[in-house]
Amino acid sequence: MNENIGKRNRLLAEKVIKGLESRNMTAEFAENREEALKKALAFIPEGSVVGMGGCMSAHEIGLVEELKNKNYNFIDRDKETDKRTAMLKTYDADFFISSANAITEDGVIINIDGNSNRVSAIAQGPKKVLFIIGMNKVCCDSDAAMKRARSVAAPINAQRVGVATPCVETGSCIDCKSPDTICCQFLITRFSRHKDRIHVILVNEDLGF
Ligand code: SF4
Repeated sequence: MNENIGKRNRLLAEKVIKGLESRNMTAEFAENREEALKKALAFIPEGSVVGMGGCMSAHEIGLVEELKNKNYNFIDRDKETDKRTAMLKTYDADFFISSANAITEDGVIINIDGNSNRVSAIAQGPKKVLFIIGMNKVCCDSDAAMKRARSVAAPINAQRVGVATPCVETGSCIDCKSPDTICCQFLITRFSRHKDRIHVILVNEDLGF
């Protein structure tokens, strides 16, 4: 991490954390992946039932490996033959792990989803939601955040899951209505009705996309 970028991120994170707190969420800052992993594990008590959607950032900080190998009841979607059962178990989990497609400087979190299991679990169901968000996802306002989610995150996610959408061919979004589109539901998390249900770890590194 370039020293000046790191310094700017530290200052910006203070503003994002205040914004999240004003929206009934909690947040903290981690200097790097290792610190983010420690904070995430400190937040999730051993024995908890933990679910997640596709969350590259959680993989990148090593959290998924820890949840699989240590004393957690991790709902491993890849191992479940019945995806609907896994989804329903996740809605009743103690914790749901997610990243964001974008977050504004004043703490509004944007997510786009195809199957929509991720956005629905963020909105309701699991007792707590833990976001792992790299500072590369912070945008100046809601317009910029939505643009990032649609023009950067969604085409790359479409590449990742290997769907047949125009953005996979061109790298840019044309607002398609392809049957394979991963842009079915847009979730704007601007306030948490339930205090402390949502916790965010902002990481001073580029994570996910
Ligand atoms: S709307 Fe279609 S083209 Fe745009 S990012 Fe989503 S899947 Fe790709």
